[in-house]
Amino acid sequence: MTPDSTHNNPRKLIIAIDGPAGAGKSTIASRLARKLDYVNLESGAMYRALALQAIENDTSFEDEAALVKLAEGSRIQLEPTLGGNRTLLDGKDVSARIRERDVTEAASRVSVHPKVREWMVEHQRALGANAGIVMEGRDIGTKVFPEADLKVFLDADPVVREQRRRAQQKIEGEVAANVAAELRERDHRDRTRAASPLVAASDAVVIDSSSMSEDDVLAKIEKLVQQKRQQRPT
Ligand code: C5P
Repeated sequence: MTPDSTHNNPRKLIIAIDGPAGAGKSTIASRLARKLDYVNLESGAMYRALALQAIENDTSFEDEAALVKLAEGSRIQLEPTLGGNRTLLDGKDVSARIRERDVTEAASRVSVHPKVREWMVEHQRALGANAGIVMEGRDIGTKVFPEADLKVFLDADPVVREQRRRAQQKIEGEVAANVAAELRERDHRDRTRAASPLVAASDAVVIDSSSMSEDDVLAKIEKLVQQKRQQRPT
């Protein structure tokens, strides 16, 4: 990356935003990318696309070798658009389908396998080879871009995250209780898996958004971006 010296042409950065489900990563990453005119890449959408492929091909979520083979034979594309990311699987727009509950659950299961993760990391690195990106996920600051210019670990109290999910999906009652239980289970799996568990990178800025508004979180990260842009590598 070449540092620019003029204020009008600020240095473009690689920004990693990691954290658990429901902490607000997607919204913040997408708003930040729009503000900076950067590309926003949701790494989770790639795990979700592979999970969907496994569902459609009757591949066991436990079969690591078969999942890698499936990934190698699939075309998973993330297309940043003005209205958010589009995810294409073998040319088909699966952006809405991959947000459904069965795929959400399956994504969390296929992502535990080290060889699946290796495949993902390699492709995510290639996607973000150029600076000027905001990539969000679970292992972006630790594995995908350990050299990222700015690493944010966005966290929030589990109860707050569940409430936000409920409001976001406009669900109540039993469905909401099930979704909350699934969120906790996914969280546990992400944090305790042997391969790249969800953890803040040692050089990440941890932001607890439990009692912060979305605007406050965004403003805080923007300030960090400004600081990083002004720092000159020696
Ligand atoms: O972020 P999102 O909820 O879309 O991710 C779906 C699942 O993919 C997560 O529950 C997590 O298990 C997995 N994932 C991952 N590493 C990433 C992104 C997502 O393990 N970088």
